[in-house]
Amino acid sequence: MTIRQDEAIILRTRDYRESDRLITFFSRNQGQLTGIAKGARRSKKRFVHTLEPLSHVLITYADRSSSGLVRIDASELKNGFIELRNQVVRIGYASLSCEVVLEMSPERQANPSLFTLLHQYLQQLEGKGEPEHFLLLFLLRMLSLSGYAPNLQRCLRCGRDSTSGEVWYFSISQGGLLCGDHPRGGKVYQVSLGTIMLLRQAQQLPPAKVWRLRFHRQSLDECRFLLLDLVRHHLEKDLKSLRLLYQIGALETANSSAHP
Ligand SMILES: [Zn+2]
Repeated sequence: MTIRQDEAIILRTRDYRESDRLITFFSRNQGQLTGIAKGARRSKKRFVHTLEPLSHVLITYADRSSSGLVRIDASELKNGFIELRNQVVRIGYASLSCEVVLEMSPERQANPSLFTLLHQYLQQLEGKGEPEHFLLLFLLRMLSLSGYAPNLQRCLRCGRDSTSGEVWYFSISQGGLLCGDHPRGGKVYQVSLGTIMLLRQAQQLPPAKVWRLRFHRQSLDECRFLLLDLVRHHLEKDLKSLRLLYQIGALETANSSAHP
């Protein structure tokens, strides 16, 4: 039995048996884990407010083997993101990121950069900036850190550099750009050169600086469904948290830029 202590973001909680809770969290050094918090439903004192989704905590857990559930012994709150929790729109954006990490990151696969990305994204959502900009930056970086980086350098078919040429399409199934010279199969989105350059910058900037990038109206319209579609393509299912964002009108539902 190994006792570990690690920073973590709580992704999901579920009731378990009569008095326990199952907690899925993303830790800085061990990746995604699920643990039993014994007595968490009965005794509110033991884990007071520290095992709620979105919370940033210092978690202590016992790991019996290299697979299966861990046993959560203690959890100390570092940041409950109270400001964020007071705004339903921002809760929606935060929940979406937790669901994406939950679905896309394999259990027990360490990815400290992904922990930093999720943590920084939640911090940005606490501020006053536009949450949709942060979401798109989060999704792009998340895809890259999960091994699904969109190819934005050149045409997948002829190799033409994406800084030249005028008409560009992004192919969801191929995960990259196609110039205007080729017939297009599958779902593609037309993207402007400005958007391609912005996304390339967003892939390359150091983690702390990426949040300063802003999408112009056209880039927002071009990227919104493209990035969500790309995530859906890799997950092979819809994201439940998107429904809340659509219901409260925080994200547009019309898909005008896709070329099926
Ligand atoms: Zn081409």
